[in-house]
Amino acid sequence: MKIAVIGGGFTGLACALALVEKGVDVVLYEEASTLGGLAGGVRKNNWKWSLEYFYHHIFTNDREILGLAKDVEAETLIKNPVTTSFLNKKEVQLDSPLSVLKFSGLSVFGRLRMGVGLAILKLIPNGLFLEKYRVVDLLPRLIGKEGYRVIWEKLLKAKFGPFASTVNMSWFWTRVAKRTKNLGYFEGGFQKLVEKTGEKIIKLGGEIILERKIKRVEKKESGKWLVDDTDFDGVVMTVPAPVMEKILDVEMDPFPKISYLWGQTVMLEINQRLINGYWMNVLEKNWPFLVVVEHTNMIDKKYYGNNRVLYLGNYLPEDSKQLKMSKEDLITMYLPYLRKVNRLFRKKWIKSVAVFRKPFAQPVFPVNYSKELPKIKTKYKGLYLANMSMVYPFDRGTNYAVKMGNDVAKQILSDLKQ
Ligand SMILES: Cc1cc2nc3c(=O)[nH]c(=O)nc-3n(C[C@H](O)[C@H](O)[C@H](O)COP(=O)(O)OP(=O)(O)OC[C@H]3O[C@@H](n4cnc5c(N)ncnc54)[C@H](O)[C@@H]3O)c2cc1C
Repeated sequence: MKIAVIGGGFTGLACALALVEKGVDVVLYEEASTLGGLAGGVRKNNWKWSLEYFYHHIFTNDREILGLAKDVEAETLIKNPVTTSFLNKKEVQLDSPLSVLKFSGLSVFGRLRMGVGLAILKLIPNGLFLEKYRVVDLLPRLIGKEGYRVIWEKLLKAKFGPFASTVNMSWFWTRVAKRTKNLGYFEGGFQKLVEKTGEKIIKLGGEIILERKIKRVEKKESGKWLVDDTDFDGVVMTVPAPVMEKILDVEMDPFPKISYLWGQTVMLEINQRLINGYWMNVLEKNWPFLVVVEHTNMIDKKYYGNNRVLYLGNYLPEDSKQLKMSKEDLITMYLPYLRKVNRLFRKKWIKSVAVFRKPFAQPVFPVNYSKELPKIKTKYKGLYLANMSMVYPFDRGTNYAVKMGNDVAKQILSDLKQ
């Protein structure tokens, strides 16, 4: 039994590992020169650790990825960094019930109303039933119009841009219900966990082929699957759904047509601290970035050549001008805002700039998406689907990528027994 896994992000890696651990013959194909997909990272020559292209951490209740880390003997670090928001020209801490109660940007009634609404959401054990409402309709009713207008409406618009009004309320529920105050990270960076997983796959007899963009997957009359030029008994497609639809040459039920946003980060190495928090949401109107993540306020700068590293992050629609801008132009556009964040900031603090962009970084789930949710097992024997648009209602993340990878492997193993 020989299985092809297409895509070397966490979904593909987890699936491949779970299969080789049960003695299945696996070949994993990855288009890029390194594994990791959206959670992959870089390591500069003077850095001891890798750093993700896009800011990453895990929650302490992310059981599946913690399980993977244990399996491949990657060290998990638990940290307690501060989350802040930038509002009314100030960085304020807004990451606990107490900090919300103290927050002077809302009236006392507004704070209480918002606190109660969020507490109710946190107590709901399964918020899937909320998917029939749009966030823009239900959230102001639940937490009060004031808190919605001052905080959440801006976050929603910043994150989902033109699609903000379509997002369903179960997405918002997951953001509140799943969050933990402590956050996890992996020693050496997420890339270290990726590498250790890849090494274990190979050690157990799996094959990993990098820099191989799969162009076509078709079903042969013999029942085998032809992946470009190689025959397999089964195929797991973990690439983004729109890519999968181009590659897969079989008649499929229509895949739900949802919108996606690009991810973009401008990663800066700077020689002074910019913000107080590790993570700072921008709640001002019309800023050119939605979040500042000063990674070295969570992880020691000694791993990154003693420089501070921060990201200026955005989710952008395909037609956004920013996606076409050079890093020099982006910095020129961002500089006045960095001075607003910290009036001491000077351009000479910046030691290096890098820009990272990837498509299909954030799916947008409309109301009642569960009714269209594709299944892992398809109508074709040996063809399995596992991509980010199938992680629902929880927002996509490495934990759910690992879970889905494990779930596909279980399905394949159970099908093999029949
Ligand atoms: C800005 C940002 C911040 C995030 N923050 C967090 C966070 O803090 N914590 C967290 O847990 N998650 C976070 N995530 C989400 C997390 O990165 C993803 O959920 C997870 O990495 C998805 O893994 P995947 O394997 O499903 O998909 P991907 O990582 O997209 O993997 C798919 C792989 O398929 C490959 N591929 C595509 N086409 C082909 C082809 N034709 N042939 C061969 N290979 C192909 C791609 O190169 C890629 O490696 C974040 C994502 C972004 C964008």
